[in-house]
Amino acid sequence: MAAKRALQLVAEAHSIDRHELHITASMGISIYPEDGCDAETLLKNADTAMYHAKGDGKQGFTFFQPTMNALAVERQSIEEDLRNAQIRKEFILYYQPKVDLKAGALCGAEALIRWTHPERGQVSPLKFIPVAEDSGLILPIGTWVLHEACRQVRSWIDAGAPFFSIAVNISARQFHDKGFLNNIVAILSETELPAQYLELEITESVLMKYSESTASILHTLREKGVRISIDDFGTGYSSLSYLRKFPLDSLKIDQSFVHRIGETDNQKAIVNAIISMGHCLNLRVIAEGVETEKDMDFLKESGCDEAQGFYFSRPLPPEQLVPLLSANAAATLCN
Ligand code: C2E
Ligand code: CA
Ligand code: CA
Repeated sequence: MAAKRALQLVAEAHSIDRHELHITASMGISIYPEDGCDAETLLKNADTAMYHAKGDGKQGFTFFQPTMNALAVERQSIEEDLRNAQIRKEFILYYQPKVDLKAGALCGAEALIRWTHPERGQVSPLKFIPVAEDSGLILPIGTWVLHEACRQVRSWIDAGAPFFSIAVNISARQFHDKGFLNNIVAILSETELPAQYLELEITESVLMKYSESTASILHTLREKGVRISIDDFGTGYSSLSYLRKFPLDSLKIDQSFVHRIGETDNQKAIVNAIISMGHCLNLRVIAEGVETEKDMDFLKESGCDEAQGFYFSRPLPPEQLVPLLSANAAATLCN
């Protein structure tokens, strides 16, 4: 049909200046007169459907449905509330411990944002982070997250905690913002946190976009001592060539491969392959979403370096993490 054909044509390789370019498109379709009687309404509804097609993955098409408008209104209202959330101090950070499997000790934590809205209650980051990314609000929110995480770790170190690294999620929009590097430098200086304590988690899609400027940002971060981890590894392109190309420190195997790892040989093979590949490239390998002892035993045997998941601890508010920071307490978490 026409939509499929158009998408196929766009997906064919285009030669520009002797470069082979591959692009994909998403398409939204609205139909006259069911979806609107004038061009403006039809275009608006096709646009709404296009965002749904994009959300479902690349290279697809979606027909408009009236329920999509309700979702668009909900999204709009989340965006408005997000604008106020920072001023009203509705965000806090939770911290999920990360365990060094060989040493059997706590080696750091991942900072995860939590939003408590006065009427909505707890809103999942899976729901509001995409809205923050689309609207650009991820820039001030991301700066707050970085500042708060660095400030918190500095205060734990001051209180005598052992070396402890803090992993902060960085969205693509934030990473490619022109103020990003300066912002990191300013935050480390303001919070007086040595750069080695900070680890940034980025996804594969960040590396694939504008690869030259990405490489230069990553090299600058490396020179400063900030570490870089690839989040959700295995769900995207997972190409060896880019892993070699960029200065990276670790890979985080996506939770979908880790859940119930002991149950299928397929999963085990994938996890083993990622661990070997990571180690060949001198990267540390971290497994997230570890929920059972069986998961942990398998990962230990496979030589995985670090693990994180409900088996060890759920993400915790800062005051509940403090008791885990002493070496003895950390050991009980890991055994
Ligand atoms: P993520 O970076 O992959 O974070 C891991 C998610 O898995 C967290 O969900 C965590 O609570 C959850 N999790 C941890 N261990 C387990 C487990 O054993 N089992 C299961 N089923 N889940 C586990 P959360 O906190 O809801 O965050 C969801 C996503 O939102 C994150 O995925 C990340 O992409 C994004 N996010 C969270 N905080 C931030 C932030 O400060 N900035 C940005 N840009 N994104 C964030
Ligand atoms: Ca993460
Ligand atoms: Ca992840």
